[in-house]
Amino acid sequence: MRYRSLTVEQLELPLVEPFETSFGVELRRQFLLVSLRSSDGLVGWGECVATREPLYSEESTGGAWAFIHENVVPRWRQRPPTALKGVRDLMRPFRGNRMAKSAIEQAALDLEARAKRRALSSWFGGRRRRIEVGVSVGIQSTPAALARRVGAYLEQGYRRIKIKVMPGWDVLPLAALRRAYPSIELWVDANQGYPASRVDTVRSWAERYEIRQVEQPFPDRALSAHAALARNAPFRVCLDESVVDADSLEEALRLGAVQSLNVKAGRVGGPVAGIALARRATRAGAVAWVGGMLESGIGRAHSVALASHPVFTLPGDISASDRYYREEILERPFVLNADGTLDVPSGVGIGVELDPRAHRRALRRRKTYTLGR
Ligand SMILES: [Mg+2]
Repeated sequence: MRYRSLTVEQLELPLVEPFETSFGVELRRQFLLVSLRSSDGLVGWGECVATREPLYSEESTGGAWAFIHENVVPRWRQRPPTALKGVRDLMRPFRGNRMAKSAIEQAALDLEARAKRRALSSWFGGRRRRIEVGVSVGIQSTPAALARRVGAYLEQGYRRIKIKVMPGWDVLPLAALRRAYPSIELWVDANQGYPASRVDTVRSWAERYEIRQVEQPFPDRALSAHAALARNAPFRVCLDESVVDADSLEEALRLGAVQSLNVKAGRVGGPVAGIALARRATRAGAVAWVGGMLESGIGRAHSVALASHPVFTLPGDISASDRYYREEILERPFVLNADGTLDVPSGVGIGVELDPRAHRRALRRRKTYTLGR
């Protein structure tokens, strides 16, 4: 592969409705797209899921932009890689910056699959033509509003509902949901919102409302609190923010802190690491599934390709495009099938193309770096 140029773009898309979690409210999604162009004119795309403010993790769109500009591009020009492995190797010495690294790896993967005229999904070893998806529902104004919102998603075909919780938004909304829908599969995600001392509180409402999976209730470093919650629990304890690499996963497995692993390529430094971590978790008896970061169509297409891999066995937080965005930047948005699945695109690479006009409307700034001839 001869890489000719790398382009970084900052985009902004308004969300269909504000998305509130234990760490804040998002009204518009700001994100980066990275594209790599080969000397024969093919282009591969990746998405950096860092947010405008570093609230989910330390990374932000501005920081990711600076990392690519100041660190990745100069090193690339010094020792130009000739394949995906070289791209990963050149970024490896840099600490952290996993979301930025993931976006570049995604672009290189898409480009490589396009060059080989293969769908990225099959290139990963993905076998599914449709993937099961669930919906993640942000914090609402009242429990009744939440129940109505969930009802609408169930009607659309979503079969697994995950709701965001935080101290003060747990017992009442869960009670309202259980009253309205006694038998749906219910997951919760607290995004680290509870102090590690609240193991018993979390356990009591999770048991009472028959929650199937409790995701990251405690701070990312509080592995022993997660392990305490998991002991003899009738639900799975799922880790998201705590697991960022192989070491953090090993520690969580050793302590018994994880029965379910939420895999986000951006959080772990790329899809290749994501599959490796999912394999490791599965070998240790946990289950793995693909999480979501309110991706635009490019990141969504990567998540769909990743979720087609057989190592992922629970429905992902991937959702159709219209769950988050009124206007998608793709020519053909992802649409939910009646059975709660999304189709895995069969075209080359990630199998989707940008809609030039929608892309232009969302674009805020762009910079292209020449890498070679
Ligand atoms: Mg989460």
